[in-house]
Amino acid sequence: MARRGLFKSRIAVYVARVASEMVEAENFDNRVLAKHVVEAVRSVGVQLSEKRDGLFRCPICGKGAFTKRGYYLHLTRIHYAYLISLVDREVERIMRTSKNLA
Ligand SMILES: [Zn+2]
Repeated sequence: MARRGLFKSRIAVYVARVASEMVEAENFDNRVLAKHVVEAVRSVGVQLSEKRDGLFRCPICGKGAFTKRGYYLHLTRIHYAYLISLVDREVERIMRTSKNLA
């Protein structure tokens, strides 16, 4: 669990990269993270990737429009803790779902 705590701080950065399309969701991977965490980062990133007229709009607080870089910075500066909690919840959901399928 201590190990997980270490990587938590990076989770918000990974989500922000996917959401701002600095990294394409399907290309995001990380050998250190568990498979279901990678899956959660992808899915939360895609959910937060909202564009209007080619610019990003933040679905969390409604602010925008942002460029790629601007949106990335907005997410990591303003919604850092929230991004981590979104991924946490998504990880739990994925784990519950896979348990039900097994
Ligand atoms: Zn926002």
